[in-house]
Amino acid sequence: MRRLRNVKIVATLGPASNDYDTIRALFEAGADVFRLNMSHGDHEEIKVRHGIIRKIENDLGRPIAILADLQGPKLRVGVFANGEEDLTVGQKFRLDLDKAEGDSTRVCLPHKEIFAALEPGSSLLVNDGKIRLKVIECGKDFANCEVIVGGTISNRKGVNVPDVVLPLAALSEKDRKDLDFVCDLGVDWLALSFVQRPEDVEEARELAYGRAAILSKIEKPSAVTNFDAILKVSDGIMVARGDLGVELPVQNVPPIQKRLVRKCRAAAKPVIVATQMLESMIESPVPTRAEVSDVAAAIYEGADAVMLSAESAAGSFPVEAVKTMDAVAIEVESDPTYREVMEASRDGKKETVADAIVSAAREIAETTNIKAICCFSQSGKTASLVARERPRVPILAMTHVVGTARRLVLTWGLHCVIARPVDRFKGAVIASTRAAMAEGFANKEDQIVITAGVPFNIPGTTNILRVAPCDERLIYSGDPE
Ligand code: PGA
Ligand code: MN
Repeated sequence: MRRLRNVKIVATLGPASNDYDTIRALFEAGADVFRLNMSHGDHEEIKVRHGIIRKIENDLGRPIAILADLQGPKLRVGVFANGEEDLTVGQKFRLDLDKAEGDSTRVCLPHKEIFAALEPGSSLLVNDGKIRLKVIECGKDFANCEVIVGGTISNRKGVNVPDVVLPLAALSEKDRKDLDFVCDLGVDWLALSFVQRPEDVEEARELAYGRAAILSKIEKPSAVTNFDAILKVSDGIMVARGDLGVELPVQNVPPIQKRLVRKCRAAAKPVIVATQMLESMIESPVPTRAEVSDVAAAIYEGADAVMLSAESAAGSFPVEAVKTMDAVAIEVESDPTYREVMEASRDGKKETVADAIVSAAREIAETTNIKAICCFSQSGKTASLVARERPRVPILAMTHVVGTARRLVLTWGLHCVIARPVDRFKGAVIASTRAAMAEGFANKEDQIVITAGVPFNIPGTTNILRVAPCDERLIYSGDPE
């Protein structure tokens, strides 16, 4: 089963996509990666969904990536005696540590670290940014605010504090428990919410100790400021436009998205563009023109993956949403303008042998009638470098490490194949030609390009490039080894 596009589709699972049949239909419609959102659903539900995905993987014989998204330090107000209150522009409103129920003049904000970090003039945004408060004066256990934009505030609404780096632990008690739970279950990617600094990523990496790759969600202004350092210590990135568009003026999001996508490609690390991509499809079987344009724009920019949130988790048309993304991707990628953009934005920097080999592999494949580029690797590094080249021919990422195959599913263009371990280059060549034919990428009379590193079993040693015929008799007769 091969996809007819390079960009990948991430589908969030939830109440609308909880059973084997629906999840399988999502996969068959084009979802490559499934996202388990730890903000919703208890461990038992998560475990069931995880088991279903692994069963589908087994039944269909294709690696599937699972991404567990940790809630992170999400701030919330306490509760109100009346359940909710209307705040009007210009009125005073107090936030404090008093656990008593709130009224029209005050409510509890049970996070003492916040008060220590606030300053007069700081903004507080409540309920997805719908209500805006400005701090007039504050102390270690209170903040007296003025309402700048009013609205209804109700029990446990989320609070964003955009312009302060919060001295919050990157991972709450719940996050730590969730992290251990999902790592033990076996997920391929861990997404960290509200990352602010590179140390946040390192902390999670330590707790995961190699059980999952780490993806940083960029949804705080401080994460945008510290992006280069965060990218360096992360394995992947999500442009989390939902919270980002609350914490920053919405018009800042598109240029940030473009910049981040480019930087991730240059670093050969996968980047997901997320949130509200097909929002109207939560209730409608067809998207708006603007949504189709938004998905297309992310693909034209060179994103590795586009994501569905509530559309697939809680909407009425989860499978249609995946099909829409798939159809948009196929159309964009067949547009000559897409190819032009991919070529023009290729980072020409070549510093290592691996850089030179993947670039040569692409050139050979594109100047001759080569059907695919196969990369044999353990860590997945070479496959990621080939993907960064954004070649015109399909890429097969061959590895005997199941976790590597699953993790690489998120990366642009990689068709991942779990292969038997090999110890000689000839073995890699034969495994590659067989896979290319079996998976429908080449026929017997075709040729493919193979890259690998020898000796095998030493990561990061890409040093061989071979053009090989798919006809095995020719391989045996022509190979000196
Ligand atoms: P969330 O993250 O869906 O977990 O909030 C994505 C976003 O904020 O865009
Ligand atoms: Mn978010």
